[in-house]
Amino acid sequence: MWMPRGFADQVRDQADIVRIISDYVTLKKRGANYVALCPFHREKTPSFHVHPVKQIFKCFGCGQGGDVFSFVMRMEGCDFPEAVRLVAEKSGIPMPMPSKGPEYDQARQRRQWREQLLRINAWARDFFHQQLQTAQGQKALQYWHRRGVSSELIEQMGLGYAPSSWDALSTFLRRRGVPEEQLIRSGLVVLRSDGRGYYDRFRGRVMVPITDSQGRVVAFGGRILDEDASERAPKYVNSPDTAVYTKGHHLFGLSYAREAIRQAGYAILVEGYFDFLIPFQAGIKHVVASLGTALTEAQATLLRRYTRKVVVNFDPDPAGRAAALRSLQMLVQQGFDVRVLTLPRGEDPDSFIRRSGRAAYEQLVERAPTYLDFVIAQATEAVDLNEPGAQVRALNEILPYVVLIPNRIERAASGDRVASRLMLNPQLVQEEMRRLMRSPRPSGSHRTGSDRQEPVAEEAVASRRLVTQAEMLLLHILLNYPSVAARLKGELQARHDALAMTVTYPLFEEILNRLERGEPLTYAALAPAFERDQMLLDVLERALIAEGEHDEERVYREAQGCLASLQQRQLERDLRKVQCEIERAQQRHDVASYNQLLLRKLELSNRLAQIRSRPMIEVDA
Ligand SMILES: [Zn+2]
Repeated sequence: MWMPRGFADQVRDQADIVRIISDYVTLKKRGANYVALCPFHREKTPSFHVHPVKQIFKCFGCGQGGDVFSFVMRMEGCDFPEAVRLVAEKSGIPMPMPSKGPEYDQARQRRQWREQLLRINAWARDFFHQQLQTAQGQKALQYWHRRGVSSELIEQMGLGYAPSSWDALSTFLRRRGVPEEQLIRSGLVVLRSDGRGYYDRFRGRVMVPITDSQGRVVAFGGRILDEDASERAPKYVNSPDTAVYTKGHHLFGLSYAREAIRQAGYAILVEGYFDFLIPFQAGIKHVVASLGTALTEAQATLLRRYTRKVVVNFDPDPAGRAAALRSLQMLVQQGFDVRVLTLPRGEDPDSFIRRSGRAAYEQLVERAPTYLDFVIAQATEAVDLNEPGAQVRALNEILPYVVLIPNRIERAASGDRVASRLMLNPQLVQEEMRRLMRSPRPSGSHRTGSDRQEPVAEEAVASRRLVTQAEMLLLHILLNYPSVAARLKGELQARHDALAMTVTYPLFEEILNRLERGEPLTYAALAPAFERDQMLLDVLERALIAEGEHDEERVYREAQGCLASLQQRQLERDLRKVQCEIERAQQRHDVASYNQLLLRKLELSNRLAQIRSRPMIEVDA
């Protein structure tokens, strides 16, 4: 879709998020916000908030949040340009057209060809589907039934049959008025090697239409019918890349599953056509297939529009195992909450459900181990941890996966879990993780939030503190009261070390830099920097949308209270450190250090007493 630079920002500025969202849910005014029952999770009391001035939404129940485009993308399951187009349309903002000229003509031609190709594909699907009613198509119909696919599902998915003929489809399409040149570009026919004429690509195959997230047919997969199999024919044939299809950019079944995924709150990711068809038919509707063991980044990004939780149920055969592991890693790096389902006896979802039924499958899905537990199990399988060196070998196998987890808190907690499972000292495991994260990544891995981390924030990993109320309130004040933020400048600089030990430090840093440069603190400006870190993005959304004081003087005192409380925490921590060092100096009979440390302790205690004596203003440390 052609769109001039800056158009999305213009639409975001002009659109009214309250109006757009009220097309989907019933909003009620409450304070400065509007509230509603959340459309993204089931609830009885509203926790879904929309802020008309800041133009963001946030659900305090399920955590979904963002700007008007994120809302529309999630509701409509569309991509960003499509969301911009929809919001522009709903807001009466005309889509700009490139001025006449070669660029304009090319853009128009591309759009027209895509539309025509989608029409051709829809005709082809209808043709293949109708072939199931012909005499030749009976064996295909029997094949579908033999594989456990019902007539209803055949109908719903538009499954079909490509007859054993060199020109059945092309003749059909030509009668529909499709010119030769378009037939060739559609990928449905193949040019003869001598360049004279063409023939149908799919022959003697059962046919599966592949749809995009909106349900439009973009490609086909064809599986050979055993009866027709000749030795040279490949088992599966797929459409080539076209103007509407790029291999590895779609998830099979997504248009059928998206609503169920939203309701369930997670997706089950499987491999093949039948791993989708059979569970779906059995009533497990929140399932999509990657059509290949190696999930692509494009597929993960696509799935992320609908959910951040996924249960991966790939075939356990050893051939695909390495690719499956890479897919899992990629999902973890993209911030997914990943569980791994391995079915007993090496079965796939298709065979398992046909043998054991839906309820048994659902039970296994519910009990599927987290990615971390899966990795630990793999590394400790058939290993006696009491054997010398076994613990370290297992640790070396597991940690490279753990350090991929983008969220600091989760990563630290995972390290502790690994330590406890391997019966190792947690301190040692965390140290080893830090060492691994400093060393260069193997090629092919991706940058994550952790790459950009400051060494100070790394300390926060070890101390694993959660976001405190004081941090939250201070962020809220900095984001919402520019004049108070300006007054606080000196105090913020003086307490920089206290801020640097918070887990939300990257947010403070970004906000302070922007204040310094006089740049805006809107959601649109801040969010892109934290896209890969769900925790920080979540804190940002909450801090922006929270309701606060109106009296500026009070807000200023609140902020001072927050800073004091953060500094108190820092001093308490320093004091604990000094106390440890004092004990060690005592053990070493190191009198010089001992005396020095005592002085340091006294100084810290005095400063702490000062802070504790000042009145705290409604700040919960
Ligand atoms: Zn919600």
